[in-house]
Amino acid sequence: MNTETKLWIERLSSLQHSLMRKAAGTQGLQLVHFEILHYLSLCNRYSNTAQALSEYLGQTKGSISQSLKFLEDQAYIIRQPDTRDRRYVRLFLTDKGQETFTQMAAAGLVPALPDDPALNHALKNALGTWQRENGIKSFGQCRSCKYNQNPGEGVFYCALLKESLSAQDTEKICREHVFPA
Ligand code: SF4
Repeated sequence: MNTETKLWIERLSSLQHSLMRKAAGTQGLQLVHFEILHYLSLCNRYSNTAQALSEYLGQTKGSISQSLKFLEDQAYIIRQPDTRDRRYVRLFLTDKGQETFTQMAAAGLVPALPDDPALNHALKNALGTWQRENGIKSFGQCRSCKYNQNPGEGVFYCALLKESLSAQDTEKICREHVFPA
């Protein structure tokens, strides 16, 4: 990657964090709280756990636990045991959490970039390479996963988890996501 591209990516990342920190502050929250609410608004039903959050944000489980406790105490999120495997605890945004996130997102997320397939491709490749080199999960969108099958119009199936997916599911990000080779 050339130096100029690297510089733009660093600046975009820095601007994103700065805007998010400011937006979180308007709600009496910290950057990490915004990041958690953001993640829970993006992730699919297989990825809404404390473990997945800790991997996504690159933070220890201890530090994530403290933030989750705060968000739960303040009624931004709720925890519920998995209906099929009660060893897992799932995290969900409450109405208050969703509303607060929507308000913060309006001010704290960098506006959508032009939809440029070449740019998307280059950024996806760069991200995939860095993640592989550092042993980090991709957390990509389900529709770009190698396990996502599309046997018919509007019909999707996860070949890894052996479950049907809705079109809406395929827009979410997933802890089990793997880019095609
Ligand atoms: S297809 Fe991939 S991204 Fe989608 S649910 Fe299955 S493992 Fe996750």
